[in-house]
Amino acid sequence: MTTKKTTKRQDTGIAVLAKANGLNPTLALKRNRTISNLITLSKLHKKINNLIDETNNLPRSKLNKIKLNMSKIESVEFQMQKEWGFDLCRENHTHWKRIKHCKCDKTTNVRHFSINRTCPIHTNPKLFRPSLAVPNTH
Ligand SMILES: [Zn+2]
Repeated sequence: MTTKKTTKRQDTGIAVLAKANGLNPTLALKRNRTISNLITLSKLHKKINNLIDETNNLPRSKLNKIKLNMSKIESVEFQMQKEWGFDLCRENHTHWKRIKHCKCDKTTNVRHFSINRTCPIHTNPKLFRPSLAVPNTH
């Protein structure tokens, strides 16, 4: 992996762009993100928010569509990890917690995916399909 030196002015630009797009400016600098990374992350945020809104507006009876959207959400979370320069790790995903149909534990350990056997979405791992776009490395 190559790390390139940035000037103070470039750093300010990155921080401003991150902030304007609702991204963490400190993290953007710490992770040495580029303008391209931030633009992609901004698009991914819009995409995941739309998917979450759509999923939360579905009735519980549309379970297959809910599960399909969950796999799309997971795929976007992997893409976001990639753009931030993090390891692709399902255990650090957080956006699935915003899905109202999911009854998994969202409180005891905020960083880790804790599957509840009574959750209508996560009870059948075959239906909760693995990521569509990014290979799951864990
Ligand atoms: Zn769940």
